[in-house]
Amino acid sequence: MIACAHAEYRTNGKDRHGNTRYRCRFCGKTWVEVQPVKPLGDMTVPVPDAKLVLRLLTEGSSIRSAERITGVNRNTICKLLVYFGEACQVFLDKRMRGLTLTHLQFDEQWTWVGKKNSRVHIEERRERADVGDIYVWTCIDQKTKLMPAFLLGKRTADNARRFMMDVAGRLVMPKPHASDAHRYQAGGYTTITQISTDGFAAYPEAVDLAFGPYVTYGVLVKDYKNANMIYTPSEMVGTKRKG
Ligand SMILES: [Zn+2]
Repeated sequence: MIACAHAEYRTNGKDRHGNTRYRCRFCGKTWVEVQPVKPLGDMTVPVPDAKLVLRLLTEGSSIRSAERITGVNRNTICKLLVYFGEACQVFLDKRMRGLTLTHLQFDEQWTWVGKKNSRVHIEERRERADVGDIYVWTCIDQKTKLMPAFLLGKRTADNARRFMMDVAGRLVMPKPHASDAHRYQAGGYTTITQISTDGFAAYPEAVDLAFGPYVTYGVLVKDYKNANMIYTPSEMVGTKRKG
């Protein structure tokens, strides 16, 4: 684009967004060439290829399988995975706000990173929270099947609190003075949702911290056969609900 009638111009630095600025040699008029927004940032992989890679990965193909099918290098695929994952995280965090959900069920899925927990030695156990047993903390609404948030981390009381606070921040909480004009009214709290968790000991306190009196809370204890055999799927034989 040339902003004036003359044809000779030179570059004239950049604007604050990094777009190159041009300046006419004759009349001194300056303008910028706005580059189209790149959906993949610095990555040069063609968008259709990137889409195909992501579709394969979400279907459960391995990284190397996606590499063989698309011809995109596996390091590029890994970068793409991180780039897209982070974008998804930002998107979800923005969208999952002001929700009204009726019954939230919390649970953790076990997985491991790097090595199994029995292979993590004592120093690592003390210093690192990113190897060994890792859990995907999930929370799903019974009615809509919406998963407003998730968290990756160890099965600790700290993570239980973080996760509960995160979910609580995404729900519509009653305003302190929503119903009256600063006049005392007898009566209780309106519950905004129902919560069910498994028997993990840190949950009751975390629920209390995050939701206070605004929820009804129950613990669902599942009874398992061979529950203590490590790394073998156990068979569920019954459930009890408490609270
Ligand atoms: Zn000019």
